[in-house]
Amino acid sequence: MADIIALLPDHVANQIAAGEVVQRPASVVKELLENAIDAQATSITLVVKDAGKTLVQVTDNGIGMSVTDARLCFERHATSKIKLADDLFNLHTKGFRGEALASIAAIAHVTLKTKREEDEIGITITIEGSQVTSQEPSVVPKGTTISVKNLFYNIPARRNFLKSNPVETRHIIDEFHRVALAHPQIEFLMTHNGSDVFNLPSGNSKQRIVNIFGNKTKEKLVPVSEDTEIVKVSGFVLKPEFGKKSRGEQFFFVNNRYIKSAYLHHAVSAAFEGLLKQGTHPGYFLFLEVAPKSIDINIHPTKTEIKFDDEHSIYAMLRATVKHSLGQFSVAPVLDFNKDSDFDTPYAYSKKQPSIPKIEVDSNFNPFQEERSPKQANISFPFKREKQPQWESLYVGLKDDASISSLDASEKESGTHDAIEFESDQITGSLFSSSQEDNAHITFQLQNKYVVSPIKNGMLIIHQHLAHYRVLYEELLKNITVQEGVSQQLLFPLQLDFSKPDLVLLESVKEALEHTGFVFGTTEEDTLQIKGLPVSLTESKAGQTLEKLVKDIKEEVPDAGFSQNDLLAKSMAKSMAIKTGTVLSKEAREHLVHRLFACKEPSVSPDNLPVLVTIDTNDLDKKFM
Ligand code: ADP
Ligand code: MG
Repeated sequence: MADIIALLPDHVANQIAAGEVVQRPASVVKELLENAIDAQATSITLVVKDAGKTLVQVTDNGIGMSVTDARLCFERHATSKIKLADDLFNLHTKGFRGEALASIAAIAHVTLKTKREEDEIGITITIEGSQVTSQEPSVVPKGTTISVKNLFYNIPARRNFLKSNPVETRHIIDEFHRVALAHPQIEFLMTHNGSDVFNLPSGNSKQRIVNIFGNKTKEKLVPVSEDTEIVKVSGFVLKPEFGKKSRGEQFFFVNNRYIKSAYLHHAVSAAFEGLLKQGTHPGYFLFLEVAPKSIDINIHPTKTEIKFDDEHSIYAMLRATVKHSLGQFSVAPVLDFNKDSDFDTPYAYSKKQPSIPKIEVDSNFNPFQEERSPKQANISFPFKREKQPQWESLYVGLKDDASISSLDASEKESGTHDAIEFESDQITGSLFSSSQEDNAHITFQLQNKYVVSPIKNGMLIIHQHLAHYRVLYEELLKNITVQEGVSQQLLFPLQLDFSKPDLVLLESVKEALEHTGFVFGTTEEDTLQIKGLPVSLTESKAGQTLEKLVKDIKEEVPDAGFSQNDLLAKSMAKSMAIKTGTVLSKEAREHLVHRLFACKEPSVSPDNLPVLVTIDTNDLDKKFM
């Protein structure tokens, strides 16, 4: 029998290796940007087309390559960064495996243009599926441009596996952020489909953060700095009140390389303990410097995970340092004499902890049970609150010195519950007083912001915007998932202008939008035509609702179907909901109350803010004693 083992041809081996290095366009972005940094560039431009599916191009003004190196760099294990195995333990560069360009060249159409300072003339090489197709001298400036076109053109399965353009773009932007944050002294420019996305001048770390995340970030940053024998920490954490619901702005850099570390994240979270609102996560931009010898970055092919020799000490150090910074920030606020003192909190209140009213309600209880159609009652939403507290808890925890207070606060003052007694009919009965005639329909509006109504044991105060937000959110989510949104046809179709990337993004959620009641006409150039709208959306609000949606998707970009629907429903509901300041007629107020209590979760807004509070007559009584 003949021998059966054969060495794989290089291009096949490269394609297999490519699977490890290149998962998506963002991987190409990362590798090319890192090469440019290793080449000592001071200015780097990233050009992306169609979320990187058509083109990823990086231009740098770094050291460039000789003609021989330009040929060699596409070979596997071709690297200028290590020569001996020992070098592995003393790395100061991003790359060292010599795999990236070989992998990329195996699965895309690649053009390399490069010139060194000392050379008269540069070179252009094109390579497709690991085969060099042309090589010629060319007049190019000092530095290197690598264009990667039609990624995965020869592996259709991988290409089909790529996510929608908004999702892939988000991944690219994430990589870009990571590299740009780690190298604030380098100037970066990024364009997508011809428009500027980021233009980041050279600066310091704080300026870079602000340039990327916006001017408002400046006030949110608390500096962190500590220097010990094993690690040097610098950077910023976000003030606890700016904690995010989603884990967005969390960056660790070790020796200027972005890394993911659940362990270090835990250390920072521990430092924030007790300072964050429930359900929010800390934000941070932390730079750790350690001796290259004391880490192993080689444990993961894409090199975002890392192993420290002295993990425990680093954990303890990081936690203590962040805690210290947060402490300094809260006990010693910076005196700012330019500040308008009118906005300052009166002295008596300045020491008080703001308490967020928290009302816990039995989410299954529905005072309008009889009125609900069986169809409505059957709708089950794919979410549930963790706790299922009882409706009666609405009446618990109203402190005597405040009309609205949090349950947490009252629980600390044990004993206050005891005074309040419940009778079973009060719990299961109708919310409104039994003498329906006089009370049930009395609602009035307070400061064009709250809808107030008497209830059995006191008074109910509903935040009109949050209530409507809740109502519309459940309605939209139902329409998207059950696909039965009702549409109002427009006499004259709306023409809305959007940028190309935004249109692409809207296209990706078109189906869900149609389920809510949108009817789209043909899209031309930059104009979206709308022929029908969801019934609860007015023509005048359509544009801003879609704009807000685009913005929200850009900021969140969820991968999974459910969270995408959830985001869509939240975003649209928020834009569509009646605003504070809107005058509501008697009918509108009643309608709102009824719709609210037909909701699954009437007591909290989709963003987890309380929608309603109650004031107990007992507490009122105490005020008159
Ligand atoms: P690695 O970065 O791990 O060495 P790569 O495949 O990414 O491997 O790159 C191979 C080699 O090509 C690098 O070691 C470097 O010498 C050269 N190279 C790649 N990109 C550039 C660039 N932008 N400027 C100069 N040289 C580069
Ligand atoms: Mg590299």
